[in-house]
Parts: sequence; structure tokens; C-alpha cells
Amino acid sequence: MTSKATSHLLSEFALIDEIFAPLALNATGAFGLKDDAATCALPTGHEMVVSTDALVEGVHFLRDDLPALIARKALRANLSDLAAKGAKPEGYLLTISIAPWIDTNWLKAFAEGLAADQNEFGITLIGGDTTKTPGPLTLSITVLGSVPRGSMLRRTGAHEGDLAFVTGTIGDAGAGLEILKSEGSDLSEADRDFLIRRYFLPEPRLIVGGLLKGIATSSLDVSDGLLSDFSHIADVSSVAIKIVSARIPLSPALVNYRGIRSKAILGAATAGDDYEIAFTAPSSFRQILQEISGELGVAITEIGRVEAGCTVALLDESGKGIKVESPGFTHF
Ligand code: ADP
Ligand code: MG
Repeated sequence: MTSKATSHLLSEFALIDEIFAPLALNATGAFGLKDDAATCALPTGHEMVVSTDALVEGVHFLRDDLPALIARKALRANLSDLAAKGAKPEGYLLTISIAPWIDTNWLKAFAEGLAADQNEFGITLIGGDTTKTPGPLTLSITVLGSVPRGSMLRRTGAHEGDLAFVTGTIGDAGAGLEILKSEGSDLSEADRDFLIRRYFLPEPRLIVGGLLKGIATSSLDVSDGLLSDFSHIADVSSVAIKIVSARIPLSPALVNYRGIRSKAILGAATAGDDYEIAFTAPSSFRQILQEISGELGVAITEIGRVEAGCTVALLDESGKGIKVESPGFTHF
């Protein structure tokens, strides 16, 4: 069967055995993907943190994207949710609805991408479901993580007087996607590669997120746009968040791409796919956060403050609100 496996698709059970089971070897509770369900043990005193994300061909990725990159982004986007909740990854489930154009080689490359990131982030496949579909390729990953009971970082909890922070740089992935869709620009090869890489391979901030437990009063990952995502915190915490536009951290590549910094800001604050952590914390943690940033080599930038109210505002140098047409991406 395997000798002519290059373009054909293996049967459902052969697929599970040959493509997915090797990814589950490190999880004793996965039973080699040969049972109906898996078990997942948690450290004493911990509770499970669960999150799921679906990706659809034509919406979240294109048919021609490299299968390994589709796989890694799907896993990383889920890990980013765990990071923002301060959780440690414990395992994940993969549901795949296989479109007619997919062959075994595609699935092998897809699994290689998963294997690479399993190694990088210390997580193992423990189960899933495999079906065919006449429609577009659809993937869904569910991640399981753990935190000491009661310590998951929430979106609620931002207080008047807290400061607003964000990790890494903002807007790179949005620019990367724009570059992929455009004819080309006079950007250097290095800047172009950097921005495109930030689109395909977001960096889930798991270590930073873990250390934010006991520091952050609210936290989420930036997937739809910095302003849009901070507005979720503002909503459920019943506070206003004022973001100082000049403080939003931008990569040199993004500034080169947009020409000047001021031009880059609005696009960056509303672009999706960053997968950085946006959070609030009392000002007494300012110093500690700088130390964490220095030790891990991950930027943690103070970009604003929490006040009384219930909205998010982007402020210019004089403290005046900047008008924002659309704060971020939505599907509907
Ligand atoms: P059932 O029919 O009882 O739902 P399946 O035959 O669908 O079980 O799956 C058998 C085993 O294979 C289960 O442990 C399931 O978690 C695993 N499995 C199926 N598809 C995948 C996949 N895409 N990734 C990981 N595990 C999978
Ligand atoms: Mg099933």
C-alpha cells in the first residue's frame, strides 16, 4: 500500500496509524491513538485550561501555502491562547476534514510541521478525528493546558490605575500578509522575509505568559488587532484603556515597509495575526516586567493606562484621541 502512496490517500485507519500516531508517541495517555479516547493527567492542585480554533482553506490559509506552515500556524495560534492564560501546554487534539485535493504526501508534510513545533513547544498530540469533505480543507485544533487551580489569567480584572503592556512587536503579520498578496515592493529581502515569517510563524509567548501569573490583572492574546483585543478587556473589566500610539512597539522591518513610523501605527494597531500578549498590570510591577523582558529577550512594552470608563482609545502625542475606522478583524 505504501509503495504507491505518493498521490493516493491512505484509508482512514492507515492515515491515523501512519501519519498521526507517530505524533502521539510521547503521550502515554494517548494509547497510540488506538482507543476511543485519551487520558490526560494533571499535576496535583492544577486545573485544565482548554481552547480550540478552526482554520478553513480560503479563509485562514490558501491551498498553495506549505502544509508544514499551515500545521505550525494552527498549533501556534492555539498555543498563543494558552500563553495568554498563563497555562502550560499538556496536549492537543486535531480534527481534520480532508478535501479532495489532499494526498498522502501533503499530509506527511503537514505532520512534519506538527512534529517540529511539538518539539519546540513541548506538546504532544493525544487524539482527534479524521473525515473527508467535498468542501475546503478544514482543521480544528483543541489545546489542553494546565494552571495551578484558580490562577488562569482572565480578561476581567483590569483596574483603574493599571498600566497596559504588550509583548513583542505589533503589525508585522498584517504587513506580511499584505506583502504576500501584492506584486512586490522595494523592501529589502531581509525585511520582506521577516514580515512574511511573522505571518506564517507567530511566536506563542508561553514563557512570558507563565510568568505573568500573579502580575497581570487581565490578559489576552492579540489575534484580531491590538485595539480590538484591548476593547475585549475594557468590556469585561468595565474600564477604559488609553493606548499611546507613539509607544506601540514596531519592528524596524515594518517601519521600513510603511516608509515612516507614523504611517505604520494605525495599520499595526488594527492588523490581525500578531499572537502577542496584551495585558494590564499594576504600576508596581513595572520594574519586574522589565527584568523579565531582559532575561527572556522578549520585548514587554508599556503602551498605555487603564482609566475609569468602558472604551479603548488611541491617543496622539498631545493626548488627543485618534479616529479609528475599524479596530480589527471580524469574520462577520
Ligand atoms: P471513533 O470512531 O471512536 O470516534 P476514531 O476511529 O475516529 O474513533 O479514532 C480512533 C482514534 O484515533 C481516537 O483515539 C482518535 O482520537 C484518534 N484520531 C482520529 N483522527 C485523529 C487525528 N486527526 N489526529 C489525532 N488523533 C486522531
Ligand atoms: Mg471518530
